[in-house]
Amino acid sequence: MAITLDTIMSLAKRRGFVFQSSEIYGGLNGCWDFGPLGAELLRNIKDQWWRAMTLRDDVEGIDAAILMHPRTWEASGHVAQFADPMIDNRTSKARYRADTLIEEYIERLRAKGKTQDAEALEERLRTAQTPEDYYAIIVDAAIPDPISGSRDWTPVRYFNLMFKTFVGPVEDDSSVVYLRPETAQGIFVNFRNVLECSRRKLPFGIAQIGKAFRNEINTKYFLYRTREFEQMEMQYFIHPGTEQQYFDYWLQQRMEWFLSLGMKQDMLRVKPHEKLAHYATAAVDIEFRFPFGWGEIEGIHSRTDYDLRRHQEYSGKRLEYTDPYTGEKFIPYVIETSVGATRSLMAFLCNAYTEEEAPTAEGGMEKRVVLRFHPALAPVKIAVFPLVNKDGMPERAQAIYRDLHKRWKTQYDDSGAIGRRYRRQDEIGTPFCVTIDGQTIVDGTVTVRDRDTMQQERIAEDRIIEYFTSKLSDSN
Ligand code: ATP
Repeated sequence: MAITLDTIMSLAKRRGFVFQSSEIYGGLNGCWDFGPLGAELLRNIKDQWWRAMTLRDDVEGIDAAILMHPRTWEASGHVAQFADPMIDNRTSKARYRADTLIEEYIERLRAKGKTQDAEALEERLRTAQTPEDYYAIIVDAAIPDPISGSRDWTPVRYFNLMFKTFVGPVEDDSSVVYLRPETAQGIFVNFRNVLECSRRKLPFGIAQIGKAFRNEINTKYFLYRTREFEQMEMQYFIHPGTEQQYFDYWLQQRMEWFLSLGMKQDMLRVKPHEKLAHYATAAVDIEFRFPFGWGEIEGIHSRTDYDLRRHQEYSGKRLEYTDPYTGEKFIPYVIETSVGATRSLMAFLCNAYTEEEAPTAEGGMEKRVVLRFHPALAPVKIAVFPLVNKDGMPERAQAIYRDLHKRWKTQYDDSGAIGRRYRRQDEIGTPFCVTIDGQTIVDGTVTVRDRDTMQQERIAEDRIIEYFTSKLSDSN
C-alpha cells in the first residue's frame, strides 16, 4: 500500500504529533512544533540513541552551546563553503537550488525514457562546481521553471546557509555569530577537554544531541528539510590507519540501531556518496524510503584528521594525542555518525503507518489505521479503559491507571464504544490497552489487548506492573 505524505501530515496534525510553527499567525516556513505525542516520540528517539551511544565504555556525551566562537566556522570551512548554488526564475519569481533543479529535470527525463540525455546531464552535474557551471547546464539543457515553464533565469549565485545574528548590543561585523548549522563542531572544539577530564584512550567517541539551523533555500517534505532541526551526532576518534575498520563497524552499528527499533529492512538502504569531500576517505548515507522517494536520514563519514587539524591551525592550541604505549604524537582520525532526530522521527512515523481491514464488534469489517511503533518509541505505552462507566469499573480502572502512569506514559479513556477507543489508541501507536470489565469485579483480572495481534489475554490485576515491566523493559 502506497502511503502519501499528506496522509502522514494530516494524522500528525490531527493527533497532536506535529503542528506548524506559530500556526495562528499563518505559520513560519521550514519550522515545526512538536505537540504532546510528537514531543514524547522525539524524546524517545533521542533517549534510544543516547542509550545506544553512551551506555558503552568508549563514548562520552556532551551538550555544547548553540552559539560558538565565529572562528569555529572559519576553521570548519562553513563560512567559505557551506553554501548552495541558487537560481531565480524571473517570470515566476521562484527560487531554486540549482543542483536540485537539475536533478529533478534529470528525473523527468528518465521518466520519459530519455536515458542518454539524463546520463549526459548527470555527468555534467557531477563535475559542476562554480555558479557558471550550474548556469551553463541549465541554459544548455533549456531547463524550464517547473512552475511557469519559463526559461528566463537569473545567474546562479552561492547562498550561505548559516543564520547570522549578533552578540551584545552592537550590530556590526565584529559581533557576528552564527546559529550552528551542525552539532559536530561543538564536539571537535571540546576534544581536548573531554580527553583530559575523562582520561580516555583512543579509540573513543563523543556524542551530542542538539538543535541545528540551516537557512535552506527550499524547505520541503514536511520534517525532511526544515530550517530548524535536531541532530544526533557522534565523532569517534581513532588511530590513523584504522579508519576502514571503524567506518565498517559504525555503519553496521547504526543500521542495527534502526532495525532494532522496528525499521523495516526493505525501507532502508546504504548509498555511497558520489562526490567525496577532498579530505574524506569514505562516506555513505543511510537512506529511508519516504513516500516521495529515497532520502538520507543518516550520514557515516570517514573524515581523516581534517577537522581537528583545522581547529589546531585556527585556534593555535595543540589538539594532538599522545599514544600512552608508544609515545607517538598525532592528530586522531575521525569517523562521524550524523543522524537527524527530527528527520528520522518522520521516517519512524512513515515506517509505522499501516492501514488494514479489521473486524468490528458487530461482525463487519472496517479500516484500521495503526502506527506500529516499537514499544520503546511509542509516545503512549498503555491505555486504560473501564468497559462501562458504572458497576464499580471506573474506580478500579482509575486506580490501575494511576499506578501505571507513575511508571509509563498512560492514557485513560472512558468515552465511546470500546472498539472506538481501541481504534483511537491504534492510530497513535499505543502498544497495549487494559480493559476493566465485569469479570474484573468478580475475579480481579483485566484484559490486555495487543495492538498488533489484537489478541487479548487476561492478567491478574496484581500482576499488571510485573507484566508491563517485562513487556516494556527497554522503554523509559
Ligand atoms: P542534505 O544533503 O539532505 O542537505 P546533508 O548531507 O547536508 O543533507 P548532513 O550535513 O550530513 O546533511 O546532516 C546530517 C543529518 O542531519 C542528515 O542525515 C539529516 O538527517 C539531518 N539534516 C540535515 N539537514 C536537515 C534539514 N534541513 N532538516 C532536517 N534534517 C536535516
